[in-house]
Amino acid sequence: MERRTWRVDGVVNVNLPIVGAEAEAASARPDIRSLSRGEIAALVARLGEKPFRAGQLFKWLHQKYALSFDEMTDLSKAFRARLAEETRLEPLVLDKEQRSSDGTIKFRWKTGDGKLIESVYMPDEERGRFTLCVSTQVGCAMGCGFCATGTMGLSRNLTPGEIVGQVHQVNRFLLEEGLGRGPRPLTNLVFMGMGEPLHNYENLKASLDVLLAEEGPNFSHRHVTVSTAGLVPQIERLGKETDVKLAVSLNATTDEVRDRVMPVNRRWKIAELMEACRKFPMKIGRRITFEYVLFAGINDTDEDLERLAKLVRQVPAKVNLIQYNRNEGLPYEPSPPERVQHFVDGLMKRGVQAMARKNRGRDILAACGQLAAEGGPGRRPAKGILTGQLAPRGG
Ligand code: SF4
Repeated sequence: MERRTWRVDGVVNVNLPIVGAEAEAASARPDIRSLSRGEIAALVARLGEKPFRAGQLFKWLHQKYALSFDEMTDLSKAFRARLAEETRLEPLVLDKEQRSSDGTIKFRWKTGDGKLIESVYMPDEERGRFTLCVSTQVGCAMGCGFCATGTMGLSRNLTPGEIVGQVHQVNRFLLEEGLGRGPRPLTNLVFMGMGEPLHNYENLKASLDVLLAEEGPNFSHRHVTVSTAGLVPQIERLGKETDVKLAVSLNATTDEVRDRVMPVNRRWKIAELMEACRKFPMKIGRRITFEYVLFAGINDTDEDLERLAKLVRQVPAKVNLIQYNRNEGLPYEPSPPERVQHFVDGLMKRGVQAMARKNRGRDILAACGQLAAEGGPGRRPAKGILTGQLAPRGG
């Protein structure tokens, strides 16, 4: 397969197979779920159909979650045949599904080229929130030392069609199982699955455009959160180009510890990250969510608590404290639950909104990347994936 070195802001060199927009352009038959509303309109015009057919087609793809052209019964057979000649509709294949006693369902999907990715459904009946945690890459180049996905390295970016496909297929699954309220059972999306969403910015943005479209699933930007390990320039871009919410995976209060736990910090230090957060456009009442996973003896001291409060008070913020989900083979241990609660209480006392985030689906390996790593392409990050100042982790 043809490969190309992609540079992200001159720092992260990632050897990726050509995927996403470039692969789509090169392919004789692009994935129709990756096309924007405008591109669908252009396709329909090129095929000599009336403009309103574009709206019908877009709705079949993104409101009715069609898995094949045959389902689109109000489009003529001839038009459907032309669509199948010109494009492909290649849904993700459900490879494994695990249900937790707390209602969490973890899905492992197989892509057209046999890669494994995952999405996690987290229902909260009490608050009427039905959230899907979505993946944006196969593996991840960020190499966070505590993360199962980080041990896999990056295989490739997901296309917009593969990103929205996770959402559509879970909506369809929930409707078929009678588990959700239709016609769009999912209410919230968090981009916190496999991969660093902002490292696949173009495809993330294209998928957001579809997911927020009125003629598509029509998610509210208030109910969509994109999480990052700290790619500072892309945080700025996300703020300028979208209205979705931002979550930052912080996990340390000093550069020394964060350099070790999250190698992206070797390029963009905590001060630069916080500066990007300060500049992130905030609608009235909106807050940036800071995720803070507590590792025993590493980032859970009283000094950390003091520094964490000081850091996040710089912006309208809320903090999710998370007890670490142990990952086999990785040298991190969870802080005890009392320590997590101590951080919640300590932050609240210092005027910071904080909560202990429920660790969903503990019984089904629901931490980031665990299911895909269990049966997936699991490989160590290749040397040279992270170069320059952003050196391989653990150093
Ligand atoms: S925690 Fe997120 S950014 Fe870090 S390696 Fe895992 S998937 Fe990538």
